[in-house]
Amino acid sequence: MATVRTGGCLCGSIRYECFGEPVFSLLCHCRDCQRQSGSAFIAAARMPAAGFKITQGEPRRYISKSDSGNDITRVFCGECGGPIYVQVSTRPDLIGLRVTTLDDPSWFRPDANIFSKSAQPWDHMDPSVPSYPTYPTGHAYPTKEP
Ligand SMILES: [Zn+2]
Ligand SMILES: [Zn+2]
Repeated sequence: MATVRTGGCLCGSIRYECFGEPVFSLLCHCRDCQRQSGSAFIAAARMPAAGFKITQGEPRRYISKSDSGNDITRVFCGECGGPIYVQVSTRPDLIGLRVTTLDDPSWFRPDANIFSKSAQPWDHMDPSVPSYPTYPTGHAYPTKEP
């Protein structure tokens, strides 16, 4: 039976359902995630976009460019500002779900620390979780054709 997980933003205006299992679970230390979250890193799981559905509310979107030139759409609640997920233009089949928006985020286990090159010196990373300066091989997003 497919696992369905539910979650939402801080104020509760946005609610979602998420089916399926993560294809990659990560802690991202990039400066964009730091700036958007206001914290040292974010915990995210790449999930199949086909299994993700907003069940309540209309989130807002903010689009920025990644280092590789891809558009990254950051989807968040316009009321409380809570981030929900990101989507990269070259992989519309995946979403990067902010796992701490889940009603139960306790099952999450990170596969990797990514963008450790911009990790803060005061941020202690669990040494048992592998770290990569950017993406581990095979997990970078494809770059858009010029
Ligand atoms: Zn909200
Ligand atoms: Zn990031």
